[in-house]
Amino acid sequence: MAIATVNPTTGQWVQNFEPLTDQALAAKLELADRTFQVYQTVPIAQRAAWLNQVADRLETDCEALARLAVLEMGKPLTAAIGEVQKCAAVCRFYADRAAEFLADEMVDTDAHRSFIRYQPLGLILAVMPWNFPYWQVFRFAAPALMAGNGALLKHASNVPQVAQKLEDLFLAGGFPVGIFQTLLIGSDRVAALVADPRVAAATLTGSEGAGSALASHCGTHLKKTLLELGGSDPLIVCPSADFEQAVATAVASRMLNNGQTCIAAKRFITVGSIGPAFEAAIAQAFAQLVVGDPGDRATQLGPLATAQILKELADQVNRAIAAGARVVIGGDRAALLDRLPPSLQGGHFYPPTLLADLPPNAPIAQEEFFGPVALLFHTETLDQAIALANNTPFGLGASIWTTDSSEIEQGIQQLQAGAVFVNSLVKSDPRLPFGGIKRSGYGRELARQGMLEFTNAKTVWVH
Ligand code: NAP
Repeated sequence: MAIATVNPTTGQWVQNFEPLTDQALAAKLELADRTFQVYQTVPIAQRAAWLNQVADRLETDCEALARLAVLEMGKPLTAAIGEVQKCAAVCRFYADRAAEFLADEMVDTDAHRSFIRYQPLGLILAVMPWNFPYWQVFRFAAPALMAGNGALLKHASNVPQVAQKLEDLFLAGGFPVGIFQTLLIGSDRVAALVADPRVAAATLTGSEGAGSALASHCGTHLKKTLLELGGSDPLIVCPSADFEQAVATAVASRMLNNGQTCIAAKRFITVGSIGPAFEAAIAQAFAQLVVGDPGDRATQLGPLATAQILKELADQVNRAIAAGARVVIGGDRAALLDRLPPSLQGGHFYPPTLLADLPPNAPIAQEEFFGPVALLFHTETLDQAIALANNTPFGLGASIWTTDSSEIEQGIQQLQAGAVFVNSLVKSDPRLPFGGIKRSGYGRELARQGMLEFTNAKTVWVH
C-alpha cells in the first residue's frame, strides 16, 4: 500500500510520501535506543511538564490538526476537533496521575521490606490505524512515555501527514529528540522491526489480520504484545428503556466517525413488543442524517476513508441481503450520489443503511461492518437477546438499555465484552481501562492498567 494522502471526500490523490530507506530506519532506531537510555532516568515531574506542554499545543492548534484528519480520512470536522481535545485530556490525565500509578507498591511478607517497582520496558513499537489518527496514538503514547518508555510509531499508510504531525507535537512539547519517532514505512517492514533486539514490545490497533500477524512476529521473538482489534458491539433495548435516548444513542454510536469506530453499536437487538417501533424510529433517524462534506460543520456523515473500505462494505451489504437480510433503509449508493453535489461525486460515500432479520448464524452476521450500516434483530426475551449478543467472535463493548435492576445485573454479568455500558453510549474514558476479549484482542489501554502494560513489575525483596 502506497504511503499517500488521498482525499476521501473527493477521491482525489493529494501527495505521495517516500518510505524510509533501510539506512534511515536504522539511524532512527539507533537514535531511539540512545535517547531511551537517558530518558528512562528523567524524573516523572519533568516528563509530566513536557506532556502538559503537548496538551497545550494540541489545544492551540486544535482546528488545524483536526482539518488534517478531515483531509486524510474524512472525519467530520466537529468530531475531529473533539478527538484532538480528547488527546489533550489524556495527556493531562497521565501527567497528573503517573507518579501515583507508578509508585512503589508495598506488600506485606516475611521480608524486612518487599514491594513492586514499575520500570519501563524500553522501545515500544506502535502500529496504529487511521480511524482515530490522533487519539489511538495518544492513548498509547501518553502512558507509555510517562512510564519512561520510548515510542516508535508505524501509522496507517493513508494518514502520513497526521503521522508526521504527531512527532512534531511531542517535539514541540519539549520531549527529547528521538523518544517519539514516526517511521514512514509499509507494514511489510514491521516483522524486521519486531526482530530487532532494541524493540522491547509492540502494540497494535487495527484489524484481526494485522493483529494476528504482529502477534506471530512477537511470539517468534518472545515480545509482549497488546492488541486492540475489531468489534461488533451489541446494543440491547428492553421494553423499560428510555426509548428516545436509546434510539438517539444507537444512531450516534453507529454513525460516529462515518461508521468506522471499533466500539460502535453495530448490532441493535430489541426485546419484546418494542421491536417495530424501534425499527421505525431508527429508519427515520437514519433518513434525516446530513451526509456531505466532512469539512462542513453541519455534516453528520462523511465519506469512508478509502476506496477499498467502500468496496468491502458494499460487498458485505450485498452478501447480507443474499443471506436473507431485509433492507429497511439505505443500501443504494447510486441514489445517495444523485443527491450529492458534483464536487463530491468521486468521494467514498455510502448511505446510512439498516438491515433487519439477517439469520444470526449466517457467516456474514459474524463479520464486523466498518461503515454506516447497522444490523437489527428482534427477540422475545432478554435471555435470547444476550445469547444473540454473545453470538459473535468479537468481545469489545456492549450496551444494554433497561431500567429494571435485575436486567441490568444480568447484562453486566452475562454480556461477553471488555466493557458493558448501561443506558449509555460505549466510549473510552482515560479513567477506566479499555480493551477487548475474544477476537477483539487482549491487554488494556487507559487508566492505571493501561499504563502498567508496558512496564516491568519488578519484585523487590529486602531481607
Ligand atoms: P488495519 O488494516 O489492520 O491497519 C491497522 C495498522 O496495521 C496500519 O498501520 C496497517 O498498516 C498495519 N498493518 C496492516 N497489516 C499489517 C501486517 N500484516 N503486519 C503489520 N502491520 C499491519 O486496520 P484498519 O482497516 O486501518 O482499521 C480498522 C480496524 O481496526 C477495524 O477492525 C476496527 O474495529 C479496528 N479498530 C480497533 C480499535 C480498538 O481499540 N479495539 C480501535 C480502532 C480500530 P498499513 O496502513 O500500511 O496497511
